[in-house]
Amino acid sequence: MAKQPMLKFVQIERDMPQKRDASVRKEDFNEIYAEYAAAKAEEQASRCSQCGVPYCQSHCPLHNNIPDWLRLTASGRLEEAYETSQATNTFPEICGRICPQDRLCEGNCVIEQSGHGTVTIGSVEKYITDTAWENGWVKPAAPLAERSESVGIIGAGPGGLAAADMLRKAGVQVTVYDRYDRAGGLLMYGIPSFKLEKDVVERRNKLLADGGVTFKLNCNVGEDISFEEIRSKHNAVIIATGVYKSRDLAMPGSGSEGIVKAIDFLCASNKKSFGDEVEAFDNGDLNAAGKKVVVIGGGDTAMDCVRTSIRQGATSVKCLYRRDRANMPGSQRETQNAEEEGVVFEWLSAPKGFTDESGKVSGVMVQKMRLGQPDASGRQAPEVIEGADYVEEADLVIKALGFEPEELPTLWNQPELPVTRWGTVKAAFKTGATELDGVYAVGDIVRGASLVVWAIKDGRDCAEAILDNFNSKAAVAAE
Ligand SMILES: Cc1cc2nc3c(=O)[nH]c(=O)nc-3n(C[C@H](O)[C@H](O)[C@H](O)COP(=O)(O)OP(=O)(O)OC[C@H]3O[C@@H](n4cnc5c(N)ncnc54)[C@H](O)[C@@H]3O)c2cc1C
Ligand code: SF4
Repeated sequence: MAKQPMLKFVQIERDMPQKRDASVRKEDFNEIYAEYAAAKAEEQASRCSQCGVPYCQSHCPLHNNIPDWLRLTASGRLEEAYETSQATNTFPEICGRICPQDRLCEGNCVIEQSGHGTVTIGSVEKYITDTAWENGWVKPAAPLAERSESVGIIGAGPGGLAAADMLRKAGVQVTVYDRYDRAGGLLMYGIPSFKLEKDVVERRNKLLADGGVTFKLNCNVGEDISFEEIRSKHNAVIIATGVYKSRDLAMPGSGSEGIVKAIDFLCASNKKSFGDEVEAFDNGDLNAAGKKVVVIGGGDTAMDCVRTSIRQGATSVKCLYRRDRANMPGSQRETQNAEEEGVVFEWLSAPKGFTDESGKVSGVMVQKMRLGQPDASGRQAPEVIEGADYVEEADLVIKALGFEPEELPTLWNQPELPVTRWGTVKAAFKTGATELDGVYAVGDIVRGASLVVWAIKDGRDCAEAILDNFNSKAAVAAE
């Protein structure tokens, strides 16, 4: 018998887990939301209307069985809720923390559309799996039988790790190669810990290792080992290398000291949080403490940079974006969090150059914009307002303008590796298969800069395709 009947959205208001006050949370790098207490999670889950066509599920890239795990949570059947949730998602507690739910599941929740406020799907998903970890329900892979086939995965981000998990559970021998010293990709070294605490990623890495996945870290494919060698060692190879070439600004003064790339800034900050020695942080190059910081860009990376700068003790933090708030690509929730923490947004503002003193940046030359007619993509194109330029003082400028793929065919001496005109690897929809025999690709290196949940989806789909392929080959061999 259900402890909590469903459909309570009329009586019970939407209530997110408690958010720490901005004045407190900006002093540290801990996550800003607390965990639900059990009764609160049950109450919030019981708001679900259990609609016949769950739009939340169809707008979740993993098609998570959301209404079912909400119902089980509302009934206090948490272990079953966890089983249901993990059946479609390799890292539910990570997605619960960092998916842009307002654009995915929660943004399409039917009761949100009817004006009652969405079910807090992400927070309940996080609660279910954090509880599962606490209770020891999350177990390492224990395949029924070992298989002889092996798969080499290049890249230990969410795409590569999701594939590793599924393959290992099926008994495949899995080796993951990564050039960083820790697994996790952008979960570890891009996304700051106030959104995703690093022990949440580390316990996943350990679980994979405990289940028999071999990690070869500090191993840069193309330098420390060739792609050909990896291919020759394994029955299949998955390329899951993400996108790391930062888009740049070529304008007067852009070579000045103190203008840095977002990924370098965020990576240094995350490494420092592990207690690592990071020279460029310690000497001030990648440290916002005591500085007037200007971040250029309006995406999630820019939001992470402004909020990291606040926590490092910047004297002021401004964010320049050439469109307006309604047209920014970053999550509105993160923008609001940043504003609460003291970040000032200069909308409709674009850089046209930089001022410097003895080669060190001293300001950003800003031109004011207005939104003109929609362009081919349907978005209103920003146009310059003549005569409205000004200089924004800055002694640290962080460029957060997006990422492009590195040139893998050149770096790996693989001219036959098929890539698109944007440099992403060409791979088949659903399977991730490339035109090279036994070579697959998943995540950002296929999609361009995207989301964790899409990388997980790709990794899982690709693992399934590889297993199908191995099974077909085994069946033919048996005949
Ligand atoms: C600052 C920032 C914040 C973000 N915030 C969010 C967010 O809040 N929510 C969200 O859903 N998404 C967010 N994203 C996007 C998300 O992180 C990515 O879409 C996701 O991590 C892509 O996963 P992936 O496995 O394809 O690649 P990655 O996570 O990039 O992992 C790729 C791995 O491959 C390794 N690698 C690359 N080349 C080589 C090589 N030659 N040899 C060996 N190893 C190699 C890298 O070291 C890395 O570990 C954010 C991205 C950034 C940059
Ligand atoms: S994985 Fe992301 S989109 Fe899917 S239910 Fe969870 S939070 Fe929503």
